[in-house]
Amino acid sequence: MGRIRVLPDQVANKIAAGEVVERPASVVKELLENSLDAGATSFRIEIENGGRRLIRVVDNGCGMLRDDAMLAFERHATSKLRDVKDLLSITTLGFRGEALPSIGSVSRLLLETRSAEESTGSCVEIAGGKMLRSEETALAAGTSIAVRDLFFNVPARKKFLRSDQTELAHIASLVTHYSLAHPDKTFWLSSGGGELLHVTPVATLRERVFQVFGTGALDELVDLGACEKQILLPPPSVPPSEAIAEFRREPEEPSTRLFRLRGFVSRPQVQKANRNSIFIFVNGRLIRDRSLLHALSSAYHNLMPAACFPFALLFLECDYEEVDVNVHPSKTEVRFRHQSFVHDFVRDAIRDRLIESRPAPAFAVSPTPQAVHAQPVSPAQPAAGMPYSEFSQMLENEAAADAPSQPPGLESQPAFELPDDDQTHSSAPEYHLRPSRAPEPRFDFGDAAIALGPEPPSGIRLRVPDTHGSFPAEALPASGSLSALSDLRPLGQIHDSFIIAAGRDGLWIIDQHVAHERILFEKVLKQRAAGNVEVQRLLMPLVLQLTAEQQIEYARIAGELESMGFETEPFGNRTIAVKASPAAIAPPDLEKVLYEVLEIAEGELRRVSLDDIRRGIAASIACRAAIKINMRLDQSKMEWLLRSLAATDCPMSCPHGRPIALEYSMREILKAFHRI
Ligand code: ADP
Ligand code: MG
Repeated sequence: MGRIRVLPDQVANKIAAGEVVERPASVVKELLENSLDAGATSFRIEIENGGRRLIRVVDNGCGMLRDDAMLAFERHATSKLRDVKDLLSITTLGFRGEALPSIGSVSRLLLETRSAEESTGSCVEIAGGKMLRSEETALAAGTSIAVRDLFFNVPARKKFLRSDQTELAHIASLVTHYSLAHPDKTFWLSSGGGELLHVTPVATLRERVFQVFGTGALDELVDLGACEKQILLPPPSVPPSEAIAEFRREPEEPSTRLFRLRGFVSRPQVQKANRNSIFIFVNGRLIRDRSLLHALSSAYHNLMPAACFPFALLFLECDYEEVDVNVHPSKTEVRFRHQSFVHDFVRDAIRDRLIESRPAPAFAVSPTPQAVHAQPVSPAQPAAGMPYSEFSQMLENEAAADAPSQPPGLESQPAFELPDDDQTHSSAPEYHLRPSRAPEPRFDFGDAAIALGPEPPSGIRLRVPDTHGSFPAEALPASGSLSALSDLRPLGQIHDSFIIAAGRDGLWIIDQHVAHERILFEKVLKQRAAGNVEVQRLLMPLVLQLTAEQQIEYARIAGELESMGFETEPFGNRTIAVKASPAAIAPPDLEKVLYEVLEIAEGELRRVSLDDIRRGIAASIACRAAIKINMRLDQSKMEWLLRSLAATDCPMSCPHGRPIALEYSMREILKAFHRI
């Protein structure tokens, strides 16, 4: 007798559960996705003990027919696919028919469901994969699935679960982001009876961002608007006569496919230590994709330090045929048919919007996010509108342990991964994700403003009579854009390093070194693009010794070095001779610049593209050639510097990602002097 056996379904389901159900948040994800596929518009998610004791998802979707309620727990039973052709264009979130049997095999599950087409509903009870009960009962239309005692029969998995707070944080993050993907639907999340998130339908994503994170968030984010790009598909390469009849395509004109991107990304000054604040949806599905993560990082290249990450909420939409979602059982990875097109489209769309909006960093006049976070939000407090930075900081602190050890590589992470630091919250009584509500309406009746909100107790807010002359707040120019740079009047320097300037919309401080760095950086890149780099011949060639690794990198980038103005040639074993260099570099700095450039090329396990290397070389040249700090500048030099900075494409950060100019806005100045 042979040794190979076909595994019973019960074992197969438990194996599938290993991949599909990693932690309570994965259960919530599968149930929520099923509810979305069922066309529900309202989702109620109840959690107990971080999802260990109970996860219940109740929806108002299409419900299941009596016969289907039992079938749903069979392996590979789905209503979403019919044949293999359907796999090429999956329009639903689910399609593998694995989630319910997998979850049922590692928990005690109760399904209650009724389709609007039938007068009675069904109730199915399963524990550890065994059917305990199935009966007809009276129910409201829709579906409720309660999952209790997750992993009660898989002690090994149970051991890997983190604290209740951490598991809850994962769930909260997941539900929050699905709520952002569906602003027109109601989401209600509670834990231990306390409400964590409750959002009602709104018309736009912007309004949903406001509901979830509060006004503070919108100030820190740049709205991508609606970006679109078409790809032209070549006509089929196989001559129609040879094509197999049933797959034959018409030999018509080349067709096009449209890609759409919308969402929000943070200003470059919002810098996160890891990727936990990046959420990418492709056709409504929350995914992790290396190539899209890389596109996002590239958009921030030279705007943000290399080891920092932005906040991003991206929604990419495309034809279903353009993306293969059948890559992994948890359906969190995808493969694009035109991967490099999608990568470049996403990178350019984000970079263009960031550059266009030229957001200026403000002086930190309010408490730092860390300071705010030090006081846990009390459940008794009325929701006061948690600033976005505080919310993301909270999630990030959950993940604090991850930050130092995570290299800035491109390793793929499981979706919604918020690596744990249980100690961080050991002293906090309970995890509270407190979404902000829209602020209470406040009507201004002349001198006495009536507050309709919970504060102050008297309900009347009196203004201090103003005897110092009034400043109409409405007349204030909108602050926060570096477009204002061109109107600045330099007043002087502090410490011969920072230029102080007066503008229409406030007071500015400009770091003279990084400002000049940005000007030179863009100049070098423009000269390179136009093929007219200024070069200086060296009197004596500079001879450099390379390590074996540097030698390999040198061979790869020699052409690029040449076009940037470095005339080099191999000079014996692991040695190169430099005969000419870009005019901006003083000869004593040349050696440092070249070693720096080779280091960039080696970085991130050689995933650096030639475009990144070109920018790296330009950044290195700019840094060496720029005016330094501790250098006195006369009025005309300061004026020249500000004018040239205003003319750059991207005056907000230096090529290494540090801010160039800080603004103390008129509004903040007036506030500080109690004039508004
Ligand atoms: P898949 O989603 O991949 O089809 P699942 O195991 O998640 O597989 O679900 C199996 C089937 O159960 C689905 O195809 C769907 O017909 C039905 N189903 C699951 N959840 C719901 C729900 N909330 N409302 C209506 N039908 C549902
Ligand atoms: Mg499903």
